[in-house]
Amino acid sequence: TAVSKERELTDGFHLVIDALKLNGIETIYNVPGIPITDLGRMAQAAGLRVISFRHEQNAGNAAAIAGYLTKKPGVCLTVSAPGFLNGLTALANATTNCFPMILISGSSEREIVDLQQGDYEEMDQLAIAKPLCKAAFRVLHAADIGIGVARAIRAACSGRPGGVYLDLPAKLFSQVMDAEKGAKSLVKVIDPAPAQIPSPEAVKRALEVLKSAKKPLIILGKGAAYAQADDAIRELVEKSGVPFLPMSMAKGLLPDTHPQSAGAARSTVLKDSDVVMLIGARLNWLLSHGKGKTWGEAPKKFIQIDIEPKEMDSNVEIVAPLVGDIGSVVNALLQGMGANWPAPPADWVKAVSTKKDENIAKMAPRLMNNKSPMDFHGALGALRTVIKERPETILVNEGANTLDLARGVIDMYQPRKRLDVGTWGVMGIGMGFAIAAAIETGHPVLAVEGDSAFGFSGMEVETICRYKLPVCVVIFNNNGIYRGTDVNTAGDDPATTVFVADSRYDKMMEAFGGVGVNVTSPDELLRAVNAALDSRKPTLINAVIDPAAGSESGRIGNLNPQSVLKKK
Ligand code: ADP
Ligand code: MG
Repeated sequence: TAVSKERELTDGFHLVIDALKLNGIETIYNVPGIPITDLGRMAQAAGLRVISFRHEQNAGNAAAIAGYLTKKPGVCLTVSAPGFLNGLTALANATTNCFPMILISGSSEREIVDLQQGDYEEMDQLAIAKPLCKAAFRVLHAADIGIGVARAIRAACSGRPGGVYLDLPAKLFSQVMDAEKGAKSLVKVIDPAPAQIPSPEAVKRALEVLKSAKKPLIILGKGAAYAQADDAIRELVEKSGVPFLPMSMAKGLLPDTHPQSAGAARSTVLKDSDVVMLIGARLNWLLSHGKGKTWGEAPKKFIQIDIEPKEMDSNVEIVAPLVGDIGSVVNALLQGMGANWPAPPADWVKAVSTKKDENIAKMAPRLMNNKSPMDFHGALGALRTVIKERPETILVNEGANTLDLARGVIDMYQPRKRLDVGTWGVMGIGMGFAIAAAIETGHPVLAVEGDSAFGFSGMEVETICRYKLPVCVVIFNNNGIYRGTDVNTAGDDPATTVFVADSRYDKMMEAFGGVGVNVTSPDELLRAVNAALDSRKPTLINAVIDPAAGSESGRIGNLNPQSVLKKK
């Protein structure tokens, strides 16, 4: 009969869904449209969670951070050409940040694309994606879907994680094949991120260098947070007695209030240390490339733990490279250290903690001001209290001053609770990260956003309301980019860096049935955030910040090229 015949067939749609499910993919971050609308519907019907966004870049950012949080590739699904390009920004950003992600885009007919005959949304997507991600594949036959998905998963997760592009032409979805053969063609990826064990010589060499240090320092990066080797890393830090400095997204791997934390003595430890052990952190611009003024005059020896061999010597000489996965390397180090590892020289430990206490004391009164309109410190002082009392909350953070100051002020207590602009310092991750963090972890999310940064993904407040997510967005509204006080002296147009003054972003949330609150003092802000996190209702708080507060480009104003002619 017709029915039994149907049952014996499968098609591209079903094979893609079955392949993802077989490999433990539970969520797809998606923007529907030709040719993947039905794929999204059918995936939802098949029990996958399909979260539909308003713009592909936000869906892509959501998938990327889902990958970071879970160590499984986050999957983003987009339409062809323009949707693909929108998603590609997030894929490139995921690759730069070493987050495992798969961007699946529908594409047009190969025959027409290759002859450039002008198909609907024609674009050679595979060629365009290739240089911007870790790997890119296209599947032309339904029988190859299983292998295609398996390759994508393995490429995303193994070694240094990253973004993978999977090109699925429209025609593939409706291709039919025998159901049993189809099922057999699927591949369950065994051990997608195999352990990479460091060589014993490398471990010995690193421990000798560390032992010889007079002023050792450990720097923890987001690779260390990603590795989910939290207990081993904590044991290594505590057993060694070495002061540690967390990079932004590694905050909370050990609590910022840990006695060995050197976060508040950052410039001192970078300048004065003699041996630096990098754990999942690159010596890129965020660490001044390991040289120059930031690192002081005294010679440094670097030990580096990284899964990517090519990372070694990328900026300066690494005297003790430890290539392997962080869990395996840290455990090997612990074993090599034995039971009687000597503490670092007491004068160094003392110098670091004295400096740290001084800086913390200096900052404290600024965080307790209750000025209205608020300055950044007053507002952040309130949010700092929120996270202290609710350490399981996930903090998403972007902006210029809003980012730089929040990073320093808000202490984190648990691993992988701080998600931010990452390696590129990119604006626009806010709502995508917040949505995926809520979906993947179930924890409440506090997104602290500059008014400018929020604008890049703001429409997703509708998505937050639609899925009723426990996300509280706080907008630091100082009427513009960096500050809201610039004037255009040459004409009637507003200055290039200001927005409509006194905007009420809270009304955006109300438009979609969420809770909107306008606050003008730190006390009000504290109350509003606590209420939002208690209720788990989608909330947007417009926090009115003094338009004159803040500085150009936050802490990285030095990266702005200067015109020598400008200020004649
Ligand atoms: P941060 O910005 O916090 O300094 P980076 O993104 O610069 O962090 O560095 C993260 C590093 O961690 C990358 O070089 C990456 O190769 C490495 N990495 C990621 N996951 C692992 C892992 N499981 N084991 C070892 N290294 C890892
Ligand atoms: Mg602003």
